[in-house]
Amino acid sequence: MRIITDFAAIQAGRPVIEAVRADYAVIHRAFDQANSSAARLAAIREWDRLRDRLDTWLALASLRFEQDTRDADAKAERDYSDSIRPHLTELEVGMKRRLIAHADRPAFEEALGAHVFRLWESDITTFDPAITADLEAESKLEARYTELMASAKIPFRGEELNLSGLQRWTVDADRDTRHAAEAARWAFFAENGSELDTIYDEMVRLRTAMARKLGFENYLGLGYRRLRRTDYGPADVARYRDQIAADIVPLAARLIAARGKALGLSPMMAWDEGMGDPSGNPKPEGDANWIRGQAAEVFANLDPRLGAFWQVLDTRQLLDLEVRPGKAGGGFCTSFPTHGLPFIFSNFNGTMGDVDVLTHEMGHAFQNWSSHDKPISDLRWPTMEAAEIHSMSLEFLAHPHMDRFFGADAERYRQQHLANAILFLPYGVAIDHFQHLVYSSPEATPAERHAMWREVEGRYMPWRQWGDLAHPAAGGAWQAKMHVYAAPLYYIDYTLAQCCALQFWDRAARDSGEALAAYVALCGRGGEAPFQALVAGAGLTSPFAPGALGAVAERVALTLGV
Ligand code: ZN
Repeated sequence: MRIITDFAAIQAGRPVIEAVRADYAVIHRAFDQANSSAARLAAIREWDRLRDRLDTWLALASLRFEQDTRDADAKAERDYSDSIRPHLTELEVGMKRRLIAHADRPAFEEALGAHVFRLWESDITTFDPAITADLEAESKLEARYTELMASAKIPFRGEELNLSGLQRWTVDADRDTRHAAEAARWAFFAENGSELDTIYDEMVRLRTAMARKLGFENYLGLGYRRLRRTDYGPADVARYRDQIAADIVPLAARLIAARGKALGLSPMMAWDEGMGDPSGNPKPEGDANWIRGQAAEVFANLDPRLGAFWQVLDTRQLLDLEVRPGKAGGGFCTSFPTHGLPFIFSNFNGTMGDVDVLTHEMGHAFQNWSSHDKPISDLRWPTMEAAEIHSMSLEFLAHPHMDRFFGADAERYRQQHLANAILFLPYGVAIDHFQHLVYSSPEATPAERHAMWREVEGRYMPWRQWGDLAHPAAGGAWQAKMHVYAAPLYYIDYTLAQCCALQFWDRAARDSGEALAAYVALCGRGGEAPFQALVAGAGLTSPFAPGALGAVAERVALTLGV
């Protein structure tokens, strides 16, 4: 059942743990007393509805804090959700354990699919009541990082900017402006560098301790299970990183060199790399509100299903797009499962990135919307690497309509977006490789971690020159990546998905109708299968397959003339 309503009408009462325990007791009793598979499945559905109510409340509590990190009430609610979450996980894991071991499992699998049981088998290894306090401490550390980042008040050109607001100056057409903006940005990180080291150090130690309490050697085993990776492991990821180093890094180096040539800059410094061409990066021709209006046309012209869904988001206030003081950085899509409605959060700042984020988060939102009717809530979102295919592919599928945002600069946008997709891959795997090094040697000192970053930066971005920016030059650049702190081991997912999105780009260039149909069908599958099965089902080559990246790299090189 989907209840289409305004955002303001989506409410969820703050759960009290005793009441939730009582709800669980009722469900367990109904499950025990059931004398048929149908009756047991009814109890499972009741459990799922309870999880929907709790997940909706958690999503609201988290969103309101991100919308204004200075709001004391929102902060209190978020703190409360941090404290209650481990208890909710404990209850949930208890139910999953019962279902996995139950004699009636074949009937459950018949109704819900077998995949959800593989997910639960992964989930139950990631929790034990012994780590309850650790989980709470981990959430608090993550909130500390978010608050520290959101607290940035960086004086620049007579304004006081937060990190998102400063971003647009780092891609300014004027080189001195870019350098000054990067210098201001890294000065903030240098100033808070030891606090950022301390937060991360505590996180690494805490995560390692949790992993060991659960019987893992280090956090890598636990981290993969938490991300519900059921069809590949660290060895596959390591081989994939090697493929990126072999097939993508040389292409990325040629792209950087070509940019340098076009810009007349040698060497290309770190603050020049984001510059696509001498005319400066294309900018959307209006502000957040204008983009919102254009988006309605873009999505309607792309596909009537996307157009109709955008109308729901727009008219129901399920969008928070513009940058504001106190608002947390970044962009994301969340959802309110009691209503079957997603929500898009972003920080539009007048750069081409606004359009990337718009089409990206729209992809997530559309997938969630399309997967609402899955037999159990676990299947409404796929695992992260599969979820990012929906978002990153839509960035490419929307290419033919970019004139609505960029006018005469649409072709320049397409070229730069494609080049940026390639340049992202080495950075993305560097972030991943760094974390594998960190969690393999959890006793390393902060200084040793900075050396680890320099090592991976040299391997995947050998062209990178930081010049006089001392903090990143000394190996501190990873501190600006939120995912390193708040979403451990997650970043590789974007790169795996990008390799799939580039295949959609290629297909759409040959037959846009075919590509769009395959895309919509993939969104409709949600999370009913693991990553590589979803990929194969959509006619894509798995990024883990030997030689998977060479073909698409060649096509990109041809298109961009490098
Ligand atoms: Zn995403």
